[in-house]
Amino acid sequence: MLGPPGAGKGTQSDLLAQRLNVPHLSTGDLLREAIARRTPLGRLAQPYMDRGELVPDEVVIGLIKEWLAREGHQTGAILDGFPRTLAQAHGLQETLAELGRQVGQVLYLRVPTEELLERISGRYVCPQCAATYHRRGTRPRTEGQCDVCGAELVQRPDDRVEVARRRLDVYFAQTAPLIDYYRGQGILAEINGAQSVDRVLTDELATLPAGYRHN
Ligand code: AMP
Repeated sequence: MLGPPGAGKGTQSDLLAQRLNVPHLSTGDLLREAIARRTPLGRLAQPYMDRGELVPDEVVIGLIKEWLAREGHQTGAILDGFPRTLAQAHGLQETLAELGRQVGQVLYLRVPTEELLERISGRYVCPQCAATYHRRGTRPRTEGQCDVCGAELVQRPDDRVEVARRRLDVYFAQTAPLIDYYRGQGILAEINGAQSVDRVLTDELATLPAGYRHN
């Protein structure tokens, strides 16, 4: 799942993972979990995330390798927020090749830049289960409380507007080149992300090769 911060990658990855019955892997969620648990990885990643910058490639590639080697993760997955640089894309390709696998399809969620900051700054997340809500979109049933697990919702520190601006710059400089990279490989599908959640999901499902569709 490729796209700028605020494009809806997390929401769409969750829905798609449920439909296709495969795991959803978000490197951002893994890193936030490591920070919450104060692991060495979390301590390493936090300063980068606080600044809205990317965690070094070798760290994230290591994380993905370890995840792919785990039980139950060989059947395919929705990768959300990874790869984010060309070096990561190459690392992923090598790792998958060793496992006899490959990237099947890249969904690029396109959203007008001027909408992104508004989407990011209105977002609230559950620190426990990573469910996402929006001031002007999907609101929780009880104000400030997660529908899924009841935890108190928070704003991600890197969703504050100053950091969000930096994340957008980083996206355009380092991640956007992946659009052409995967287009060149003939596996990129461009999805209009400026539609309702359901509509985006329908468009995504329609672009997947027949073998991927379940349910
Ligand atoms: P996300 O939840 O995908 O918006 O990611 C939040 C933050 O985690 C990013 O701004 C980066 O600091 C870090 N991060 C997540 N995925 C990656 C990645 N693939 N490469 C480097 N940093 C990442």
